[in-house]
Amino acid sequence: MAISLPVLALTWPLAAALALSAPVPPVIPLRLVAPFESPRTDWGAGHRGIDLAADTDQPVASLTQGVIGFAGMIAGKPVVTVHMGDGRRVTYEPVLTGLAPGRPVRAGELIGVVASRGGHCGGEAGCLHIGLLDGSGYVDPLALLRRPAVLRPLQPRPGLPR
Ligand SMILES: [Zn+2]
Repeated sequence: MAISLPVLALTWPLAAALALSAPVPPVIPLRLVAPFESPRTDWGAGHRGIDLAADTDQPVASLTQGVIGFAGMIAGKPVVTVHMGDGRRVTYEPVLTGLAPGRPVRAGELIGVVASRGGHCGGEAGCLHIGLLDGSGYVDPLALLRRPAVLRPLQPRPGLPR
């Protein structure tokens, strides 16, 4: 009898092992369905994050190491926020979690599952919304997927290819 192991059981520990040297995908497979669109004004239209293809109940891994800052409902949708320790924070929605604020998380660690509804992602929309806030407001979270997901601030170094 063939035994089929869930792909995630093999993939997540690997992602965690690579966490310090490579970006960690929050969902697998990693597929961008809606990019970041910076609003022209604080209240203007835009997309304050990225949407990744994801199904209801799909496990969500933290892009970065950090500390759970918020886990609960915001405007009718379940939101999980991870504070990176350098002033930036990452929000995941709609995501249900059993983790409480203050709980440290590693890059690649599972922080919850995609909820069936809430916001413009989840269930029928088939996506996970990820936002990244720095001191100035919302910025493109794709930066976290292109660079190592480590705790210290990443500064571009002159002379090195980016
Ligand atoms: Zn979105």
